[in-house]
Amino acid sequence: MEWRRHFHQRPELGFRERLTAEAIAQKLQEWGIQHQTGIAETGIVAIISGNRPGPVLAIRADMDALPIQELNQVPYRSLHDGVMHACGHDGHTAIALGTAYYLSQRPDFAGTVKLIFQPAEEGPGGAKPMVEAGVLRNPDVDAIIGLHLWNNLPLGSLGVRKGPLMAAVELFDCTIQGKGGHGAMPHQTIDAIVVGAQIVTALQTIVARNVDPLRAGVVTVGSFHAGHACNVIANTAQFKGTVRYFDPSLEGFFEQRIEQIISGVCQSHGATYDLDYRRVYPAVVNDGAIASLVRSVAETVIETPLGIVPECQTMGGEDMAFFLQEVPGCYFFLGSANVERNLAYPHHHPRFDFDETVLSMGVEIFVRCVEKFCVN
Ligand code: MN
Repeated sequence: MEWRRHFHQRPELGFRERLTAEAIAQKLQEWGIQHQTGIAETGIVAIISGNRPGPVLAIRADMDALPIQELNQVPYRSLHDGVMHACGHDGHTAIALGTAYYLSQRPDFAGTVKLIFQPAEEGPGGAKPMVEAGVLRNPDVDAIIGLHLWNNLPLGSLGVRKGPLMAAVELFDCTIQGKGGHGAMPHQTIDAIVVGAQIVTALQTIVARNVDPLRAGVVTVGSFHAGHACNVIANTAQFKGTVRYFDPSLEGFFEQRIEQIISGVCQSHGATYDLDYRRVYPAVVNDGAIASLVRSVAETVIETPLGIVPECQTMGGEDMAFFLQEVPGCYFFLGSANVERNLAYPHHHPRFDFDETVLSMGVEIFVRCVEKFCVN
C-alpha cells in the first residue's frame, strides 16, 4: 500500500517513467534481485530463480499514468500537475513489486520468474518495443500472465476467460476534399459536409451488414469537423474514429471496408480524400490452459475464493496483446471497486481510485500462479 501510494503521488506519462523506474530498481537492488533497466526507454526486467530448475513464467505490469488532473482529496494525491494514475497502473507496479519481494524471500518453486515492468501502455505502447528488445527470450518465456485492476468489477471478483478478453484497437483519421462555394449556389460546389455525412452513415453498415453477427465489432466516429458559416459550403470535412473487434481473423477487414466506402462515396460526388489508418493494438487473446490455471488459483487457493466473472470481455484495448501474440498466457481483471467506500469511479476519471485491499490479493494470485505453473 505504501509503494502504491508512492507511485500514485509521482505519476509519469508513457516513456517518461524515470522516477517510477528508479524506485523499482532501487527496491530490486535492495532485495538482491537481478534486473536490467532502460529497456524500451524506461522498462525493467527482473529475474528471480526458484530453488530448482523448471519453466519460465513472466509477469507483466505497466507503469505509466495519464494526462489527467487528479480531483481526489487524499493524502497520497498526485504531486504532478496534470498527470494522474487514473487507470490503476500504480497498483499493477506495486503488486508486481510485492510479488518480486515475496518470491525472492521464498524461492520455493521450480524454474524462473521474469517480472516485466513496462512503460507507456496508455500510448504509444511500450509492450511492442519490449518484445522487440527481446524480453521474452534468454531465458525463453514459456507463459506470461498479467492483471488489470478493474473498477467495473467489485472487490472480491476476478474476470477471466479463455480466448479474446480485450479488443483490437485501430484508429482512423480522414479528410474529405470537396469544393467550397456560396451557400446559395450549391451547383457550383462539391459539399464536403454532405459527402462526409454520407460516409459516416455508410460506415455504420460495416458492423450491421458486413460482420458476422456472432462476432462483435465497433466502428465509432468520435469527431467530425467541417465548415464555419451559415452561407458557405464547406471546402473540406474532417472526421476520425476508432474500430474495435475481438477476432484476429478480422485484422485488415475493417481497414479495407472503410477505405472502400470512403472512396466509393467520394467518387460518386467528385470529392477526394486522404485517409490515415493505424492498427494500434491487436486483440488480447488468452490461452485456454493458462486461463484455467488463473481461474483455479482464484477459485480454490485464495482464503476467500473470488467470484469468477467469465462475461468480462471489453472492447477496451491493451498492449498486453503483443506479449500474448508471442507466448501463451492470460490477462485478467481483478475487481477493485468498493461502492460503499466511494471507490468505484471508472478508469480514466479524475476521481478514479480503488480499494487497496486488492493489492495483497493481486500478490497472492501471482504467487499462487507461480507455485502452480513453476513445477517440474
Ligand atoms: Mn490501463
